[in-house]
Amino acid sequence: MITRSQDLFGRARQVIPGGVNSPVRAFRAVGGEPLFIARAAGSRIWDVDDNEYIDYVGSWGPMILGHAHPEVLTAVYAAVARGTSYGAPTEIEVRFAEAIHKAYPSMEMVRCVSSGTEATMSAVRVARGYTRRDKIIKIDGAYHGHADFLLVEAGSGVATLGIPGSAGVPEGTIKDTIVVPMNDLTAVADAFDAFPGQIAAIIVEPVCGNMGCVPPVPGYLDGLRTLTQEAGALLIFDEVMTGFRVAFGGAQARFRVTPDLTCLAKICGGGFPAACFGGRTEIMSKLAPLGPVYQAGTLSGNPVALAAGLATIELLAHPGTYEKLELLAARLAGGLHAAARAIRVPVTLNREGSMMTAFFTDGPVTDYATAKKSDTHRYARFFRGMLARGIYLAPSQFEAAFVSLAHTTDDIDRTVEAAAAVLREI
Ligand code: PMP
Repeated sequence: MITRSQDLFGRARQVIPGGVNSPVRAFRAVGGEPLFIARAAGSRIWDVDDNEYIDYVGSWGPMILGHAHPEVLTAVYAAVARGTSYGAPTEIEVRFAEAIHKAYPSMEMVRCVSSGTEATMSAVRVARGYTRRDKIIKIDGAYHGHADFLLVEAGSGVATLGIPGSAGVPEGTIKDTIVVPMNDLTAVADAFDAFPGQIAAIIVEPVCGNMGCVPPVPGYLDGLRTLTQEAGALLIFDEVMTGFRVAFGGAQARFRVTPDLTCLAKICGGGFPAACFGGRTEIMSKLAPLGPVYQAGTLSGNPVALAAGLATIELLAHPGTYEKLELLAARLAGGLHAAARAIRVPVTLNREGSMMTAFFTDGPVTDYATAKKSDTHRYARFFRGMLARGIYLAPSQFEAAFVSLAHTTDDIDRTVEAAAAVLREI
């Protein structure tokens, strides 16, 4: 008998390329066919066949409060009733920017956009405009959205599908992008030496999430801060994933390193398409209408999206939030690690706060090259085994699992139990 998900996937493939609106959703890296989701609440999602799953994807990060949080929904319903978009300034944009600035003091000025992709491409543009330099450095295997000049040896879906960069990206648009390995300060110093006075910025995921979870080695982020300062280049933290995730103030608070520009998305949109970038007033003042760097958006600062984002941020500001996430995530990571060790399956567990990846390799995993040593076939079997037991993990080895405030210790223990069983089978 064909399931409703299978039926929908068949129809989807006729009218949507690959049946999905973002490649990793197609399950190509793990085999099988994607589930079509009907609804979600708390730590759970249900597919259209009414199967229930404990969800560790959380819409790829945003759902840190769990799905359909009642206070977020109330804020959204109230916003919707006042109209959904005006294309004119609103009070909530001011409150949102103030809240972002308070949580991220380095973001003295904030510009709203609608996706992480827009945030990073705009931050790079303003960095280039401010420094009047063209070259940028990015980290091999890091993903900053799908702007042409950032799709160079990119991670996430691109790495999963094994596509080098992407077709359709002209050589000319990537000629100013220098790629260096994660956690390698020498490579960054060499790049600055090779192109003196030409590098506008380095863009990093301060804790990488898109080659799986790869934290910075001690001193790495500080080293980037020093090297960029010496070279007159800007340090851009792409905190699309880590923002409000690894700490309320993101990786810059957790590791006490102050970037020049920061990109946020995912959590700050509360499950809606809202994102932003920001930094020092001096740099952000280069943006139109104040300065010569053009950037715009019809739905930027959308009142419904910002209502969801602001409600999410306000709830996250409650005392004890990140301590609770830490406890839950440590319990999950510890349980998974112990389960793997008990039966001698080589697993390296990388975790930073409530984001983590179990790499099927002896490790350590400190960059993309070591992440790629993972046994992705084993991960695929693990993923399918977990799914069959009602646990929804990312359909790729090179992604992070996210714990939310809606997960309970019972959810975590059930997940570890399932993992122990699945690891014995694979
Ligand atoms: N930067 C990082 C670190 C990301 O993880 C992502 C998305 N996974 C992006 C940028 C792009 O964001 P979006 O998908 O909202 O365009």
